[in-house]
Amino acid sequence: MKPILYIVIPCYNEEQVLPITAPLFLGKLDELISCGKIAYSSRVLFVNDGSSDSTWEIISDMAKSNKQVIGISLSRNSGHQNALLAGLEEASDRCDVTISIDCDGQDDLDAMNKMIDEYLAGSEIVYGVRASRKSDSVFKRTSAHAFYKFMKFLGVDTVYNHADYRLVSSKVLKEFSSYKEVNLYLRGMFPLVGFKSTAVYYDRNERLAGKSKYPLRRMISLALDGITSLSTKPIRIITALGFIVALLSCVGVLWSVIIALLGKSVAGWASLVSVLCLLGGVQLISIGIIGEYVGKIYLETKARPRYIIEKRTEDDEK
Ligand code: UDP
Ligand code: MG
Repeated sequence: MKPILYIVIPCYNEEQVLPITAPLFLGKLDELISCGKIAYSSRVLFVNDGSSDSTWEIISDMAKSNKQVIGISLSRNSGHQNALLAGLEEASDRCDVTISIDCDGQDDLDAMNKMIDEYLAGSEIVYGVRASRKSDSVFKRTSAHAFYKFMKFLGVDTVYNHADYRLVSSKVLKEFSSYKEVNLYLRGMFPLVGFKSTAVYYDRNERLAGKSKYPLRRMISLALDGITSLSTKPIRIITALGFIVALLSCVGVLWSVIIALLGKSVAGWASLVSVLCLLGGVQLISIGIIGEYVGKIYLETKARPRYIIEKRTEDDEK
């Protein structure tokens, strides 16, 4: 039996790029079907992440004219990770394997052939890894590199240079459905599930049209989610820092006693102010880091739904 593949694509305000890339995804699906790698009933599943432009109209028009296209629409913009999860959960009962990919054409579609080959050879997860980051700005490249290094330092098992272009079997998705957290960082969570996994390499291109939906603010927020979702080491670092500062302050106390005994205790205003400022800063940063975790606990305990599906293109067919 050939596996049923669902290509899952989150889209947020992508009216400019979708008409260009949707035919590419469908072409790839047809190619994989005709070369006998996947089943005829494979589909492309678009997730409209609460777009305010005509993205949903484009998706539902495509679904009307082509039964290989399915669309779901979220009730509001829930963010890339939630939208992707919505698509994967929607697909998991209907297919044997999913491939998630961004809708902007940056990721090389030909890597899907290699992914399917790896799946057929027994891998349950296949990570798409960027062989080069030539198309990214210098800032994005260096900040991403520093982030991966930092994650490694924190002891987190992330796949270097892998974003969300990934093959995941429905077997893995079924296990993944018991991960109920709302603080999502999918690329770091899938390695936790285990199963046989491998990577395929591809070159990343420029966005074919439209603008990036990941401005600096969102990138930082995703990075923070990644760290707090996968590691509590920053809190340990604070404790270690506390010990170092406490040790240093012993030296300071000794020094001030000696100065006092020598009768020169009026001096030292500058050192006093600098120590105060330094400690104030360290304390605020530390509280901030701990607060980041407390905030995440708050959100986790509320356990609000990660996304709400408002409409499906299939509803129109009924
Ligand atoms: N995206 C989404 N919801 C959001 C932001 C982005 O579904 O709130 C989608 C977007 O349409 C695209 C993918 O996530 O398919 C990646 O976004 P983008 O290409 O803008 O990010 P970049 O490649 O610049 O990091
Ligand atoms: Mg992109």
